[in-house]
Amino acid sequence: MSGVLDGFSLAGRTALVTGGNRGLGEAFARGLAEAGARVMIASRDAAQNEVAIEKMRADGLQVESLVADITQDADVERMVQETIERLGSIDVLVNNAGICYHRDSWDVPDDEWDHVFNLNVRALFKCSRAVGTHMRTRGGGSIVNIGSISALIVNRPQNQAAYNASKAAVHQLTKSLAAEWAQDGIRVNAVAPGYVKTEMAPVDEPQFRRQWIEDAPQQRYAVPSEIAGSVVFLASDAAAFVTGSVLVIDGGYTVY
Ligand code: NDP
Repeated sequence: MSGVLDGFSLAGRTALVTGGNRGLGEAFARGLAEAGARVMIASRDAAQNEVAIEKMRADGLQVESLVADITQDADVERMVQETIERLGSIDVLVNNAGICYHRDSWDVPDDEWDHVFNLNVRALFKCSRAVGTHMRTRGGGSIVNIGSISALIVNRPQNQAAYNASKAAVHQLTKSLAAEWAQDGIRVNAVAPGYVKTEMAPVDEPQFRRQWIEDAPQQRYAVPSEIAGSVVFLASDAAAFVTGSVLVIDGGYTVY
């Protein structure tokens, strides 16, 4: 490597993206592949996986898929082993899969609360440790967690307490693992997106629109590709001295 821009290249690297078959995860998989990585996406819906990888392969990108429900420990172990077998290694893990329910706290059923924490926090930790075990035998790697501005502010309407709390846990877990795993050459960072138009975020619905969009400095939401560059940066050697960071990408939403 020579110039500054070379540090952003992921040529020769391998990456695993959980939930990479639509929304933000698909944009992350595409961005990592465009930077040169060979990428595995892992989600529950096999048909949607195929749709996503066919689109990326049509653009000449090296992307594969497997089916996994990462709330199941056995699936996490299989996902990691299969990815190593098929790609040869995992240099980059993007912990993207997540879920959000909109419901007043008084009405949140236990199984919904448990699902949010099982996927957003527990599965993220299990994936990190399974991949981290592999990374440390190889001398290092980069883990990028997908947090949220919901860890930093309580957005309106105030009806996603479990999600907000789970993303705060993601941010703190990012810092904790970064501190522990630096000695193994593993960097752990997070991005905290603002509102991004995906199936998860009903950005066009009137009750969200005013407070999420019209009150925001840029008065718009993001599209997934606008978050992907930061994930590629954190995954790459350009971020070699970045660990334990949470990069906020929200069009200025949290400046108020
Ligand atoms: P989507 O609902 O569009 O996509 C969720 C992805 O996660 C899908 O690929 C889905 O695939 C996968 N997934 C869900 N459950 C599981 C599971 N049990 N095992 C494996 N994969 C699973 O969400 P977004 O793209 O909007 O969100 C992606 C991440 O970004 C989440 O962590 C979210 O919290 C975060 N985020 C999103 C923001 C936004 O405004 N959209 C803002 C801030 C953060 P499948 O259903 O096939 O399993």
